[in-house]
Amino acid sequence: MTTPISFEFYPPKTDEQRAQLDKTATRLKAQSPDYVSCTFGAGGSTLSYTPETVDHLHQRHALNAAPHISCVGGTRAELGELLQRYKAMGCNRLVALRGDLPSGMGHTGDFRYATELVEFIRREHDGCFHIEVGCYPETHPQADDAHADLRHFKAKVDAGADGAITQYFYNADAYFRFVDDARALGIGIPIVPGIMPISNFTQLRRFSEACGAEIPRWLAKRMQAYGDDVEGIREFAADVVAQLCRRLVDGGAPGLHFYTLNLSKPTLNVLARL
Ligand code: FAD
Repeated sequence: MTTPISFEFYPPKTDEQRAQLDKTATRLKAQSPDYVSCTFGAGGSTLSYTPETVDHLHQRHALNAAPHISCVGGTRAELGELLQRYKAMGCNRLVALRGDLPSGMGHTGDFRYATELVEFIRREHDGCFHIEVGCYPETHPQADDAHADLRHFKAKVDAGADGAITQYFYNADAYFRFVDDARALGIGIPIVPGIMPISNFTQLRRFSEACGAEIPRWLAKRMQAYGDDVEGIREFAADVVAQLCRRLVDGGAPGLHFYTLNLSKPTLNVLARL
């Protein structure tokens, strides 16, 4: 497969998690990703392990690592400092997001939406970073409606985003329709589908409820029918996700971004089928 791929990791917090990420990064590097990205913990920039992890991925694994940077809860000064730090580390790509504050924490930062963060990065550090933003083929859960969500996506592009990565989904038609609608609005940047390989169905269901991604009924029913047959689930899930990837690539998706959850096997099982 010649389609560019990228892998998303989260910043480990314990020695055990760090060892797991090293193992995963080594295995996935062999797939020659374009870049890898590292998520950002919500709740303010100073609480994040992201910079250390990005530096580690550069230094130890020689991977082009793109930090996620989320603006909610952070001040202009904190975010400016973080951007300087990433520049000094040699980062040339960022994933710029609003983020989600833990429930109960009010809006305390200087920026309200990702658009303002993209504007800020362009204004203060123009030319230093390739900026990816998030987008939602099945509509962001807090959006007033699908049209408003698309208009807000366009605002991020107009503010200077170079590319977009979607929330994960299991319905290829939602992606194709979303891309058509985006193009009709004049959005020309690459829109790379985010792919969530399935390793733990209970966890996936929990994530999906929180982020507004739909698990189709047929898929949920088939997964449930496997019961404790872990091997059966693994094979079935990898077939389904690989089929989704193939459809997306055949339909013109410009790349595939894998949400790895710091595990290599579920992603490798999908890639092996492509
Ligand atoms: P925005 O683009 O700001 O949109 C958020 C909501 O506000 C949408 O409903 C939008 O329609 C609405 N909106 C936007 N502008 C306006 C406006 N002017 N007026 C009214 N409404 C508006 N979260 C993390 O905490 N850390 C991560 O590392 C992380 N990585 C992610 C990576 C990807 C690829 C994706 C798709 C999501 C990621 N998330 C991450 C989750 C993300 O932070 C949440 O989905 C968050 O709720 C929205 O972020 P956003 O950047 O899309 O927000």
